[in-house]
Amino acid sequence: MVMSMPEHVIITIDGPAGTGKSTTARLLASRLELEFLDTGAMYRAAAVVALDRGVDFGDGPGVARAVHQAMLRFDWAADPPRLLITSPHERDITERLRDADITLGSSIVARSPEVRAVLVEQQRHIAQAHPRLVSEGRDQGSVVFPDAAVKFFLDASPEARAQRRADQLRSAGQEVDEARLLREIIERDAADRNRETGPLIIPDDAIVVDTTHLSHDQVLAQLEQQVRQRLGSLNRGVGG
Ligand code: C5P
Repeated sequence: MVMSMPEHVIITIDGPAGTGKSTTARLLASRLELEFLDTGAMYRAAAVVALDRGVDFGDGPGVARAVHQAMLRFDWAADPPRLLITSPHERDITERLRDADITLGSSIVARSPEVRAVLVEQQRHIAQAHPRLVSEGRDQGSVVFPDAAVKFFLDASPEARAQRRADQLRSAGQEVDEARLLREIIERDAADRNRETGPLIIPDDAIVVDTTHLSHDQVLAQLEQQVRQRLGSLNRGVGG
């Protein structure tokens, strides 16, 4: 079905780690000719900034101040966009974001209401400049963009998510302790669901997709079909 996307359309994809959210969001954005916002990268960047400036990950107000001063900027000319710190010097930190110490640090800074407030504001600001957006994270449909046109929540069993992570690590040549991976996923889920600010919840009007037994292609096809259906009916509603 050929359908052009409206001038303003925000699609949110939330869900826990290991559900294939990032890849799905990036591919969906590309299929629909929308831009893609990886909000996890912003929490990771907050951890990079904290480490650079010697601020403790647990010092929420300190990290929030440092993030504000660092003036993060996505380079939208690249696909996927690269992430830069612009103050006091411009520096591309994209390659650093996936390092293990930053993964751990990001999960700590993400608990801070002060850090979340700074990043949520920046995400809304980005959406004003890039109003045709697939935004992916833990709180995009529930907190950041409650009026999004279409909201998805991707889920999968902890076992399937641990298995996917194990496969990724093995293909990167790393040793894997599967029992430990599963334990970490269960712990991280609990932390994400129970934090006071921006907890991982399923927004009321979200479309829940269980990816446990689905391939990337199948998930992508489902999401694309849902978006086209929903936006098609919205268009018809408006246009008569
Ligand atoms: O998705 P990713 O692994 O890159 O996220 C990095 C960290 O940031 C995770 O600990 C995740 O819980 C947190 N996060 C968040 N809110 C978002 C996106 C990510 O708390 N919107």
